[in-house]
Amino acid sequence: MVAVQAQDPAQAVIGVIFGPPGSGKGTQASRIESEAMLKHLSTGEILRAEVAKGTPTGKEVGRIMAAGDLVPDELIVDIVRGRLPEAEAGAGVLLDGFPRTVRQAQALDAMLAEEGHRVDRVIALEVPEAELVERLLHRAEVEGRSDDTREAIAERMHEYHKLTEAVLDYYRRQGVDVVRVDGTGSPDQVFERIRRALPSPSAWEDASGPKGPGRVGGDAN
Ligand code: ADP
Repeated sequence: MVAVQAQDPAQAVIGVIFGPPGSGKGTQASRIESEAMLKHLSTGEILRAEVAKGTPTGKEVGRIMAAGDLVPDELIVDIVRGRLPEAEAGAGVLLDGFPRTVRQAQALDAMLAEEGHRVDRVIALEVPEAELVERLLHRAEVEGRSDDTREAIAERMHEYHKLTEAVLDYYRRQGVDVVRVDGTGSPDQVFERIRRALPSPSAWEDASGPKGPGRVGGDAN
């Protein structure tokens, strides 16, 4: 991966980091953000900030999240719609935690199409469920996140299988390049695998064809 700098908003790269709860999406997205200069947009973080503000919406969202359920599609789509233009104006965006349902994916496609964009690439982290639960329970001790209880974790896994997994098939059917990456091991090891899975400097762009000059800097591999 290399540093990218879009000169034209139409060249913005749209990536999605995908995976079950606890697969390390946020950790890897932060690294990709620094290396590929993509703006990391985490819907979980945005929602937690809303909860922290204690607004009426935040209170409702806090209850939903603590139970391990998904917030309504309309709410999250509105939030992303508000943030996307700013993110798209730069080199590109890496979505983390969104889209989580096929309806959200369709709404995202519609939003992107308005700007002449589409999802260029999906990185799907794969981790066995037993390890995910172990990681989340460990995180509960370290970070004390309200949705890292056994009950909420079970519900989040259930929602993932019921609603979110289908998003990958949705993208595959559309011909979007879905890169599967083994998400086990240390964050460094996983990041190295992501780099290897995206071998060419223009790997972020390849999926949707060349978009003209939009990158600066050398190959970081
Ligand atoms: P994780 O992937 O570990 O569950 P996130 O921070 O991505 O962590 O999400 C935490 C919670 O925030 C989810 O369980 C859900 O309640 C809510 N949430 C985040 N993104 C979405 C989304 N796109 N649609 C609905 N709910 C979401």
